[in-house]
Amino acid sequence: MNTDLFTNRYSVTAVIALLSFILGYLTSRMGKARGAQTPERGEQYYIKGLNYLLSNETDKAIEEFIRVTHLDPDTIEAYLGLGHLYRTKGDFDRAIRLHRSILARPDLNDKERQRILLALGADYKSAGLWERAVSVFKQVLGINPNKIEVYQELAAIYEEERNWQEAFKAQQQYDKRTGSKQKNILAHLQTETGKEAIARGERDKAHKAFKSALSIDPSCLDAALHLGDFYLEEGKAGKAVEIWEGIVTQDAPFAYLAYRRLEKAYFEQNRYDDIAKMLENVVAKNPGNVMARVTLGEYYAKRDMVPEALRHLREALSTQPRSLEARRQISQILVRNHMQEEMEKEYSEAVEVLYAPSEPYTCTRCGLKAKDLSWRCPQCRGWDTFTAQD
Ligand SMILES: [Zn+2]
Repeated sequence: MNTDLFTNRYSVTAVIALLSFILGYLTSRMGKARGAQTPERGEQYYIKGLNYLLSNETDKAIEEFIRVTHLDPDTIEAYLGLGHLYRTKGDFDRAIRLHRSILARPDLNDKERQRILLALGADYKSAGLWERAVSVFKQVLGINPNKIEVYQELAAIYEEERNWQEAFKAQQQYDKRTGSKQKNILAHLQTETGKEAIARGERDKAHKAFKSALSIDPSCLDAALHLGDFYLEEGKAGKAVEIWEGIVTQDAPFAYLAYRRLEKAYFEQNRYDDIAKMLENVVAKNPGNVMARVTLGEYYAKRDMVPEALRHLREALSTQPRSLEARRQISQILVRNHMQEEMEKEYSEAVEVLYAPSEPYTCTRCGLKAKDLSWRCPQCRGWDTFTAQD
């Protein structure tokens, strides 16, 4: 499962890694006694191995690297290159055995130790043995707390394990040490912490997590939605309204996720018409906002304001002909009001448009198309990479 994830990056990373191995190998050879025959032959095998690798003949490359380790068992470079090949081939057991065996050598210096541990951690991670990967990566940090890529490895593993709090800490360490500010990720991790706390009934903890998420990234929509939900459940409709009005007014992508919530919260405050006022403002500024049109259509239909409802729903269809929700509501209105002629027209148009299946969400990073919205792409694991389209 994990191998799929890495396959498309395989060739580039493999070549870069192997080039660094070969440089490391040649450099380490230069420090050793010259004139001996075996090292030179080792180099030849190394070059041969690399050539096989470049022509994608991994098995032959492995054979050459094994020869190098036999000729030159003292340098760890050849072993690291070999381990890397086993891992990229998906032979994790063999990679793990190899890295563990060189790790047991008594004469390793800190730098070598780090490199082997990093490789072993990568083996465990690729094999899905997350706890072991974490423990190995932590050993690297024990030697060198500034090994920044380790924090990213740890964050990625904790995310897979849905251990959001630890993922947050690792991401924070990474950001602190690199100076990068990936606020949206930190906010998502806090929001996920809050959602799990809600599921366990730990409401105080959830409240804190959602608030912390918003203080880190005020534009984190998921945090705002859930903090509002929290307030509404606590009977604080006013506070929920305040948060959701912020989202709807800004008309951010996916702000429609707040429409129904806002309508419900207004309702609890006996402000029955405010949702329409709010959304009329939104479409006045952004006439192509399909979800606002659809919500308005439903609102007017419920109040038997047929021309207003149809106007908004048809506007929605002119932007997004595939909007199922708009089609459904139009059909209901036409049937309910016995508008026979328009019904026939709508029917033939709808069949035409809706015939092909659709995946409206696309990941801007890896191109994945999906039926449902995810804050974190299930394929490339990027946060906030989805856009909506027809
Ligand atoms: Zn993606």
